[in-house]
Amino acid sequence: MKTADVVIAGAGIVGSSIAWHLTQAGCRNVLLLERESSQGKGSTGKSMGGVRAQFATEHNIRMSMYSIPFYSRFEEITGHPCGYKPHGYLFMATTHKHLDYLRANRRLQNSLGLTNVEEWKREEIVARVPLLKADDILGGSYCPTDGFVDPWLVMEGFSQGAFAGGAEIWRNAEVTGVDVVSGRVSGVRSTAGAISAPTLVNACGAWATRVAAMAGAALPVTPLRRMLCPTEPFPGIPDRCPMTIDMSDGFHFRPEGRGLLMAWNDPSETPSDKPVVDPTFVERILTRAVERVPSFINLEVDPRKAWAGLYEMSPDHHCILGPAPEVEGLFYANGFSGHGVMHSPSTGKILTDLITKGATDLVDAPALSVRRFAEGRAIDETAVL
Ligand SMILES: Cc1cc2nc3c(=O)[nH]c(=O)nc-3n(C[C@H](O)[C@H](O)[C@H](O)COP(=O)(O)OP(=O)(O)OC[C@H]3O[C@@H](n4cnc5c(N)ncnc54)[C@H](O)[C@@H]3O)c2cc1C
Repeated sequence: MKTADVVIAGAGIVGSSIAWHLTQAGCRNVLLLERESSQGKGSTGKSMGGVRAQFATEHNIRMSMYSIPFYSRFEEITGHPCGYKPHGYLFMATTHKHLDYLRANRRLQNSLGLTNVEEWKREEIVARVPLLKADDILGGSYCPTDGFVDPWLVMEGFSQGAFAGGAEIWRNAEVTGVDVVSGRVSGVRSTAGAISAPTLVNACGAWATRVAAMAGAALPVTPLRRMLCPTEPFPGIPDRCPMTIDMSDGFHFRPEGRGLLMAWNDPSETPSDKPVVDPTFVERILTRAVERVPSFINLEVDPRKAWAGLYEMSPDHHCILGPAPEVEGLFYANGFSGHGVMHSPSTGKILTDLITKGATDLVDAPALSVRRFAEGRAIDETAVL
């Protein structure tokens, strides 16, 4: 029978980063199991690629403070490009409540050493994104090292680096069972064969709950549809246009090629694992787009190019990392709640530290454990787009 020191279920951006970090730490006998015929068909291939450190919780800020500098040196570190574009994230407030919220977040960010987040007045916002209708904008928050990456390139870079370091991948290998003997993982069964292994990392994104259940463990992750709408080329997009977020309704956009990629998260969306585009989505997002940027009335959009994917929501919108309490040898890298691309580098590092050393100094790992829900220690990230 095939043996591995660590099996990673799911070879999206998170599984790939964990494989890379493990091989870098000297753990060579790592096997990725991916149920699809190729990588990136889960949420990774559907993502908007945004990376930001402007969060409301200490853990997410710290994870970004590892991940974003990592992205800025990705090619130097891994030998592969990741398409990092530090155009910044610009949050725009139209109410004093939102402005105060941004200020409180900035104080926390500053206290943790993230000192390049700026408070912007309306004039600075308009100078950077002149297209905006800005009469109701009171101010905003901008961080110049936030920006975007190409999630597929990141996944590919981590994977190729991991393979060069000795890791293997089985494609068309759906995990169908987890063998547990005397309360600990002893092996993994898949459609491509069985593996004897003492450690299993669950990196199955929006489908992670099922794999946890195979080991008899309870993981609270719920799939939630998110849709994106690309546009045809549009003249007049400012140079280095940031990810621009209208906090009044959550509409946001960033440049994509010579056009834009637009997002708006419908608050009435209910949990579902059916990532099909709602036919009314394009019209609804365009209404919001034109309200904030009047010249977007001229945007050309092919509704057939809009797409839907799944966020993997945890109850407190915060990732669930570390050992499963019920089963020794089972580790979670789940529940990113829409932040798995930006936090894939730090997740790889944290999981590797926990697997190889039992502790990490990157974050307060016990705080991110799934135990927090049963123990009344939910964290509650509110800066979710
Ligand atoms: C529309 C949209 C926009 C987003 N925008 C952003 C953004 O701007 N920034 C950001 O950071 N994040 C964003 N996200 C979230 C981000 O895409 C995810 O958090 C991230 O991709 C999670 O990576 P993953 O590797 O955990 O999951 P996935 O990429 O979903 O990978 C999980 C893998 O597990 C495999 N799998 C599942 N079950 C099994 C099984 N039983 N056996 C074997 N393999 C299995 C799947 O096939 C899949 O390949 C967005 C998501 C969506 C949908």
